[in-house]
Amino acid sequence: MKRFEPRAGFVVQAYRFALDPNVGQERALRSHCGAARAAYNWAVSWVTATWWQRRAEQSYGIAEEDLTPWRPLSLPALRKVFNEVKHTDPRFAAWWADNSKEAYSTGLANAAAAFDNYTKSKQGARAGRRMGGPRRKSKRKARLSCRFTTGAIRVEPDRRHVTLPRLGTIRTHENTRKLARRLAAGTARILSATVTHARGRWFVSFQVEVMRDARTPAQADMVVGVDLGVKHLAVLADSTGRITYVPNPGHFDNALARLRRLSRRVSRRQGPDRRTGRTPSRRWVKADAERNRVHHQVANLRTDALHKLTTRIRAGHHTVVVEDLNVAGMLSNRRVARKVADAGFGQIRRQLTYKGEWAGGVTVKADRWYPSSKTCSDCGAVKAKLPLHVRVFTCEQCPLVMDRDANAARNLAALAAAVKAGTGVAGDQDAKASNPRGADRQTRATTRPRKRPGGRAGGATPHQRTETGILAKPKR
Ligand SMILES: [Zn+2]
Repeated sequence: MKRFEPRAGFVVQAYRFALDPNVGQERALRSHCGAARAAYNWAVSWVTATWWQRRAEQSYGIAEEDLTPWRPLSLPALRKVFNEVKHTDPRFAAWWADNSKEAYSTGLANAAAAFDNYTKSKQGARAGRRMGGPRRKSKRKARLSCRFTTGAIRVEPDRRHVTLPRLGTIRTHENTRKLARRLAAGTARILSATVTHARGRWFVSFQVEVMRDARTPAQADMVVGVDLGVKHLAVLADSTGRITYVPNPGHFDNALARLRRLSRRVSRRQGPDRRTGRTPSRRWVKADAERNRVHHQVANLRTDALHKLTTRIRAGHHTVVVEDLNVAGMLSNRRVARKVADAGFGQIRRQLTYKGEWAGGVTVKADRWYPSSKTCSDCGAVKAKLPLHVRVFTCEQCPLVMDRDANAARNLAALAAAVKAGTGVAGDQDAKASNPRGADRQTRATTRPRKRPGGRAGGATPHQRTETGILAKPKR
């Protein structure tokens, strides 16, 4: 997929506003998002049908050149076929004209992107875990979303309304002045608008090309190392030697007791049952809504706190050094997943990076295996082991005694010196030369494909099990 490249001096930024649609508009919003999903599902089924067909034909021994031909996966091709099919296909013929064509484009574009990702992943050209082919989206689980790229997309001058194709003028829950001012001044241009339903509300997010002159941060020569953790959300060590502890707000943990109580109430009332077709009672709906409200509240609090933190770090420092944590790996560890997800490690790193780009700052990513906690920030001696419960770092080579996280943050800050300019991966050479960890890595960078024992699942002989199961099991 081609990415939009902004002009020099411009960045692509999103402006997101909560909407207050009226009843008719809400229905139209749902209809558009549903239409996007229907088009996506159509594209996925239309393409993958030939995959199964070919596989079946191969099993009958049909020659390669006589097999059903592959169907195209590209967006223009999908769009062309869909635009013919929608008039005749009974799944679309009666109602496709109710929604903007952008709704169907959204679904087809998402399907094309999904096929593109799948192909790249299969060829090994995509980072991250190997992914499966696109699957149909369920009406119950799919996130409601629809993107508009053409037509009447406006922020109204009264700063309380936005206009979208087919949906018309919708009132916004908040003032749109931040974007309206820029649009009026000609320093911003709307590229597209996406409506989503999230956290119990409708939102519109404008993708905007915004002029941003590279500003020098308040303290241009300041470097800060950011050590993320669960005890303290972040420990910051800057180049003046000052250590700042950012407490973990623990939004989710604070709400846990309340959530438990509300969840209990929900489960005591008569909920929906798909198997028997039972509809939920009014009291269940009410209790469920109340529980969801708490979840939304937690998410909002977290988002707000993270943005404030990353903006503050960025405003005061030119260079920010962060660890390249394996967040996906940590989330698959059920002992720490809740805390890690609540802290939002992935978000902190992402926000620090893009806010740095906007402000003309530098972000240095420490190598994933850089032993920031085990290295002495004074003499550089590296410990072989430092269990998590040991909160104070005591150096064996020099008299340094320091809080574990503060020591790690100082090490990260020192890494910035290794990288002169630009964004890069630091600690690479260092870590490779002096990494004594090897055997006791806490998280794995990539999941090695588990070797399956021969034969049916679970039917391996004890001999095979020792060979492929235990010996091949990666050390943790
Ligand atoms: Zn030392």
